[in-house]
Amino acid sequence: MKTAIIILGPPGAGKGTQARLLSETLNFAHVSTGDILRTAIKNGTELGWRAKTFLEAGLLVPDELVDAIVCERLRQKDCGKGFILDGYPRTFAQADTLHEVLDQDDILTLVIGIRIPDEVLIARLGSRWICPNCNRTFSKLLSSGKLKGLCDKCSVELIHRADDAVEVITERLKIYHEQTESLVRYYQERGIYVPINGDQLPAKIFYAIRGVLEERKERMASALAEKAK
Ligand code: AMP
Repeated sequence: MKTAIIILGPPGAGKGTQARLLSETLNFAHVSTGDILRTAIKNGTELGWRAKTFLEAGLLVPDELVDAIVCERLRQKDCGKGFILDGYPRTFAQADTLHEVLDQDDILTLVIGIRIPDEVLIARLGSRWICPNCNRTFSKLLSSGKLKGLCDKCSVELIHRADDAVEVITERLKIYHEQTESLVRYYQERGIYVPINGDQLPAKIFYAIRGVLEERKERMASALAEKAK
């Protein structure tokens, strides 16, 4: 059965890193609205031109625009087996749009909520570097000799994201608490939300997520067996 995994969490929680690891392990498509928008801005497309001022100010891009991007992206072939949503949905309107698509196509959905205090996020985002080529992120806090100003994979010079500047981070966190955090409840009510402690090393977070997936797989298998009786 086709599966969607939604990674929910504040900016800096490590959604991108976990989504990438999951996508590589499960062979699911990694759909990051932030990456799609940044690429559009870099390439100077009409989408990029429309989204630029929102990203620079740390504000949410209008729902219609992101909904259209995601709906189109999910129709692509690499999403056939399953996909990981990173940074979407971020509002109730987006969640409703997404669930029309998921319900219509009978897609099994799980939401992983990465939880982490604001103080940790602020420290993390201030020391975050990104590869402009592959969008991998690196942290001075976790560098352990790896970070030498170049991407491990592409050897391209790492940059700071403009929206990781302190003033913009504050705005992004405020928006997260005002508009996105309440989606936790939305998904808890549907029984598909699993919280994970994000204040630990990426490998440990990933291990915890894998555990959740294994456990859900067993539960699903027994539910299907029960149904078949
Ligand atoms: P991210 O890389 O997920 O932190 O996203 C970077 C920026 O892209 C956000 O601060 C927003 O300006 C925009 N963005 C990404 N995803 C969404 C979304 N689902 N809804 C609205 N704006 C978004």
